[in-house]
This record gives sequence, C-alpha cells and structure tokens, in this order.
Amino acid sequence: MSTNLDVALVVELRAAGVPHAYSPNDPEYVSSLLGFNRDISHTPEVVVVPHTVDEVVTTVTLANRHDLSVRVLGRGHGAQAPITDGIAIATDRLAFVTVDAEARTATVGAGATWTDVLSVASPLGLAALCGSAPHVGVIGYLLGGGIGPVGRAFGFAADHVRSISVVTADGGLVRANAEFNQDLFWALRGGKGGFGVVVEVEIDLFPLATIYGGALFYTAEDTPAVLRTFAEWSRDLPDEMTTSVAMLRLPPLPELPEPLRGRFVCAVRIGYVGPGDDAEALMAPIREAARPLIDSVGEMPYAEIGRIHADPVDPMPVMEGGILLDEFDAAAADALLSASGPTAEAPLATVEVRRLGGALARMPEPANAVGGRDAAYGLHVVGAPVPDLLHTVIPQVIGGVFSAMEQWASGTTQINFYGRANQPDKKPTSWPADITARLREVRHKHDPAGRFPYPLHGEAV
Ligand SMILES: Cc1cc2nc3c(=O)[nH]c(=O)nc-3n(C[C@H](O)[C@H](O)[C@H](O)COP(=O)(O)OP(=O)(O)OC[C@H]3O[C@@H](n4cnc5c(N)ncnc54)[C@H](O)[C@@H]3O)c2cc1C
Repeated sequence: MSTNLDVALVVELRAAGVPHAYSPNDPEYVSSLLGFNRDISHTPEVVVVPHTVDEVVTTVTLANRHDLSVRVLGRGHGAQAPITDGIAIATDRLAFVTVDAEARTATVGAGATWTDVLSVASPLGLAALCGSAPHVGVIGYLLGGGIGPVGRAFGFAADHVRSISVVTADGGLVRANAEFNQDLFWALRGGKGGFGVVVEVEIDLFPLATIYGGALFYTAEDTPAVLRTFAEWSRDLPDEMTTSVAMLRLPPLPELPEPLRGRFVCAVRIGYVGPGDDAEALMAPIREAARPLIDSVGEMPYAEIGRIHADPVDPMPVMEGGILLDEFDAAAADALLSASGPTAEAPLATVEVRRLGGALARMPEPANAVGGRDAAYGLHVVGAPVPDLLHTVIPQVIGGVFSAMEQWASGTTQINFYGRANQPDKKPTSWPADITARLREVRHKHDPAGRFPYPLHGEAV
C-alpha cells in the first residue's frame, strides 16, 4: 500500500522529468518489478523505469535529497532477496544496442539482454561473450564476471569490456575505462554491485560466425559412466574446448523431445572454438562412455549458442546455490552421484559441473576484480521449481550436495552463481580477501553514504 511519502516522491520525480515512476498505488508498479525469479516479490517505496540516462541521473539526485537507498533491477536472474525499501530502478527500457563492425565493439544499454546483442552482432559475423542463457541481462552478467559456453577460449566476459558508464552516488555520470576512473573500471568488472547504476558498456566482439558445439544426452542408467568419464576427460583439455556436465530432472513438457520428456538425463555440453575434426578427436573418450539418446554436437551458428545448455527461458521460481571446486575426479563424481544422481530422491532440476580454467584463469590487462579465477570447476545446483518445497526441503538438499562435495570444494563461489541456497553457516566467499578489501575501499570512496546498498541485503558475500 502506498504512503503519502511514496506518492509525494512519485509526483516529485514526474515533475523533475522522470515520467515512469510508480508507487504501489499505480497499476504499473507490480509489473515493473517482475523479474525472472518469480519466488522474489519486490516492494520498494517507488519503482522507476527510466527511458533515458538523464532520468537515471535525476532519480539518483532525488534519492540523495530524500536519503533513500537505490537498487537496480536488471532482468532478475540474479535476484537474491526482496527489495523492501527505497527506490528500485528497473532498467529494461534502456535496452539499446549498437555495433561498430570495423572496431568489433558493441555499445550496450543497461536493460539489454545478450539475445539483444546477438541479434545485432551475429548477422555481421561477430560474436558476443554471453552466458549459457542469452536471455540473461548483459550488465548483471558482466558485473559478476561472466562464464560462458566458450569461456575457456576467451576468458570471462568482463575481461573484454572496454568502458563502462555509470551514474554514481552523487548523481554524476562517470565513464570508467583503462584511462579514466581506473578504480571503478577495475571494480565494476567482476565486483558486482554497490558502485552505482551502470547505464552503458562498450564490449569487444569476436569474428566468430560458427562454433562446433551442442549437447550429448544420456540415460539415467548411463549417467554414472558418463560422469566418471567426464571427470577424467575434462582434466586436461586445450583452451579451445569448453565443457560441462549436467544431471537434469526434466519436466514432462510437450516442447521437449520425446526421449527427454519427464526423464532424468545427463547432458555433456560442448563449446569448441576450432575445426570440428579436432573437437571430435578430443571428444572420443566421451563418445565411448555410452551411446547418447540425443546428439546435437556439430557445426552451429554462434547466434544459436543458447542451444548448448538450453536453459529455461520462461520466468519461474528459483532456489539455487553454487560453489567452486579445486578438483573433480572420479571419487568426486561418485560423491555427486550418491548425493544427487539418478538413484537419489532429490527435488533438484539441475546439478551442473562446469570445467573452468583455460583463459578464465588468466588475468587480463588491465586487471579486474573477477572472483573465482583460480577454480578448476564450478558446481551449480538448482532446485525443482515447486513453491511448497522452495524454502524448506530444497535448500537442505542443496546444502547436502555441497556437504557431500566438501573434500573437493575450494571454500569459494563465483558471484554470478551465488545462490540463496548456500547454507547460512557455510557461506562461501566470492572474492579473495585482498580483492574484497579493495572493493570495499572503492565502494566507500564512490558511495560513502551507502546509497547503493551492497551486499544487497546484508549477507556476507
Ligand atoms: C538461467 C540462467 C543462466 C545463467 N547462466 C549464467 C552463465 O552461463 N554464466 C554466468 O556467469 N552467469 C550465469 N547466470 C547468472 C547471471 O549472470 C546473473 O544472475 C546476473 O546477475 C543476471 O543479470 P540480470 O540482469 O538478468 O539479473 P538481475 O537480478 O536483475 O541483476 C543482478 C544484480 O546485478 C546488479 N545489476 C544489474 N544491472 C545493473 C546495472 N545496470 N547497474 C548496476 N547494477 C546492476 C544488481 O546488483 C542486481 O541485483 C545465469 C542465470 C540464470 C537464471
């Protein structure tokens, strides 16, 4: 319900040139706050949907005048907790994308998704370093680092950012790049939130029209053999090969291919940058492990990179968690199978192990704040989207999976995979201590009053 203050603030914002400002009284309020994760309902005092960068500047200036906190809503894939006070800025109307084909760069607005970037860049034969799900927001992804289906070949997406424009706590529009505002440029590439409202980024594109990739799906019966083979096979791979394995409990949806519908399956994902013959030679051990139900690996347009993981696109309630692993050997595969494999009665949608390393392990020049660079593997677990279990059984089960993997865990996580299901008493850290300390300094310098709260809700990340 609106208060007099909320309504007065909306009136003031509109009078100052921010027309799309809504209090709980307005019919647009609820829809403006909806994101991918439907388990989280935000109830800020006011939500603003800026259509221009000037409107962002005005909103932050008024937030200062009234001493209100400001939080940013991208596409809601990384929402951690409900926003219950202050102003929420929903960026989806700032979704512009322009490409300079000669310079091989894209300039991307705060609300754009990777799908928006791919649709402009791909027809020019240029690739953008998106993640497994191109419908994820570009800025939220880049702020955390960005580990994609060809990540071992190119590194984190944040390693290929040229400049970032951000509205800082004093309401100023600041450009951060290798030359200017170097501290912000370092922090915004991997340090996630609490620095301001990013309104625009300039990113590198790569001349890559096709890759050799896809997925091999296996039965529940073959899953143990495939997971153990993956553990051995994925240890020594060239940087050109990016791969992950996922155990999936798929819903009985008609749009899924019949062999996968309503089944437990295991998928090995392949994203190879180079000749198909080389990829096939490398993949021989995986192909020998078992006969796949479906094999979609082959030459594919980069524009269709989302097919490799085929993540769900429609908004849904999500409870997830992620940790990083120093190693994933056959014993680790067995531990994961016991905790979450086909014979475990686990209400989990996805249990995924991504091979990291390669270019992901190399610091770019100039350096950035990306966390998780040294990890060998990432483990990410998503609960079944069953509202009744989401806050009870599912976090316990995910915690159980992480406990089973303790021997291989590094005690850290990657901020883009930091989920609400990481156990409260065992929260992994997202950055090494020196990076965390420097991020705090940069936040304090640019936002001494904590206008942009971070960690978003007080949790220790
Ligand atoms: C299906 C799915 C697949 C994914 N795949 C990958 C993957 O392959 N690799 C990977 O690295 N990550 C992946 N992620 C994680 C994803 O990158 C993060 O959740 C990211 O934060 C999503 O950004 P968003 O805009 O969609 O989400 P939001 O929840 O809207 O944003 C997350 C946070 O980012 C910050 N933020 C967003 N926009 C701005 C801005 N303009 N200015 C300042 N701060 C901002 C805010 O702090 C916000 O709370 C995936 C997530 C999902 C749900």
